[in-house]
Amino acid sequence: MPVADFEVVLGLEVHAQLLTRTKIFCGCSTAFGAEPNSQVCPICLGMPGVLPALNAQVVEWAVKTGLALGCAVQPVSVFSRKNYFYPDLPKGYQISQFELPICLGGGLTITVDGQEKLIRLTRIHMEEDAGKNLHELAADGGSGVDLNRAGVPLLEIVSEPDLRSADEAVEYLKALRAILLALGVNDGNLEEGSFRCDANVSVMRRGATEYGTRAEIKNMNSFRFLKQAVDFEVRRQVALVEAGEPVVQETRLYDPVRGETRSMRSKEEAHDYRYFPEPDLPPVRVDEALLARVRASLPELPRARAARYQQVLGLPAQDAGVLVGDGALADFFDAALAARGGGAEAARKVANWTIGELSRLMNETGLPPPAWKLTPAGLAEVLALLDAGTVSGAGAKALVEELFRAGGDPGALVKSRGLAQVSDQGAIEAAVDAVLAASPADLERHRSGKKDLTGFFVGQVMKALKGQGNPGVVNALLKKKLGGLPPGEGR
Ligand SMILES: [Zn+2]
Repeated sequence: MPVADFEVVLGLEVHAQLLTRTKIFCGCSTAFGAEPNSQVCPICLGMPGVLPALNAQVVEWAVKTGLALGCAVQPVSVFSRKNYFYPDLPKGYQISQFELPICLGGGLTITVDGQEKLIRLTRIHMEEDAGKNLHELAADGGSGVDLNRAGVPLLEIVSEPDLRSADEAVEYLKALRAILLALGVNDGNLEEGSFRCDANVSVMRRGATEYGTRAEIKNMNSFRFLKQAVDFEVRRQVALVEAGEPVVQETRLYDPVRGETRSMRSKEEAHDYRYFPEPDLPPVRVDEALLARVRASLPELPRARAARYQQVLGLPAQDAGVLVGDGALADFFDAALAARGGGAEAARKVANWTIGELSRLMNETGLPPPAWKLTPAGLAEVLALLDAGTVSGAGAKALVEELFRAGGDPGALVKSRGLAQVSDQGAIEAAVDAVLAASPADLERHRSGKKDLTGFFVGQVMKALKGQGNPGVVNALLKKKLGGLPPGEGR
């Protein structure tokens, strides 16, 4: 296996759209999905003579991200013009940061195969997004351009080439996404492109000291595609090196349909862009007061939260990881647990419902926790009803689903929907008697020891009680009526 003779060297460049209401240099809305070219003005259209004005929120969130990632936030940073021509860039240049970015250094820790590893960051800089070319739009076969996205603020987060496999790259991307979600600066939406990544991939023979020539892969809008693209690219480069052919420095696109990367264009060097300081914007200054204010606003970060869930609440690592992967889900869990009260046992139950049923409903509806009609207190109340035996497990599930979709008062819904669990001995005994009377042949088989039909009878009784029978009472009564263990049992 030749791939094993090689070491993979990977670095990621992540573009994260900041959740500001307005663009980075003008007051236009950043809302996604509006009519094309409805959120533009002379500034983001790049008309001559206009002046950009920096959105203060962008700086504050760049600082927040930098502090969370352990970067050195620079007291002075500078915007530059990155010159290139493309139809979605009407100015002919992109305002970005080059020589003096707002953050340098830093890093984040990932866990792969139980091993912790620090992935260092090179830098974080602020820039504006470009527009979007629409090639399927015009009926006459022409192309259109939507400039609503032009001027939307981005953070570009560049890692050092510290990643050594596609799995590490995926873990890094997940960890970074979770941090940005926890900070509330980005929505983590890979599909809509508001959190996207390019990967710089190269291979070198094991033991070599110099990195191979790298290719940059673009267009990976899911964790799965990132893994597939990197794996493909590694195999492609290894095959080239093995055949004695050169790896060309270039930009490649990942095609998820064919599962391969293909050449898009030769890779530009920085000097191709003729960067120079943006003359229309003063240097960005971050003073101690801003640093202190932002530092005080930092929330608990995902790794610290996961550690707390494991050490204080006793949750399994896997569950803690799922919860902190989405800060809003973890917030819901925290609030529901606070409402429910109790120790590790309560935490485990609240976590199971949050990760299981609620994640399922979230994926099905696409609604984030703040948009749910079910409140944390509502979930706590349902779990209290379940623990008290007022509703069965199935009843609690039905209740949670209805509350999630329509909201309401759990206690009132139990009554109006007939979800109360039957714990009444008399009612259950009547159902047990009716089931046994209706199946004399099965009863005989069970009693003769030919087959243990306890499970069958439990099912029949629960069916007769429309799933609302208290399982403990049903089991106890059946056991009594069936005469304890069947004779065949235990032989
Ligand atoms: Zn504008």
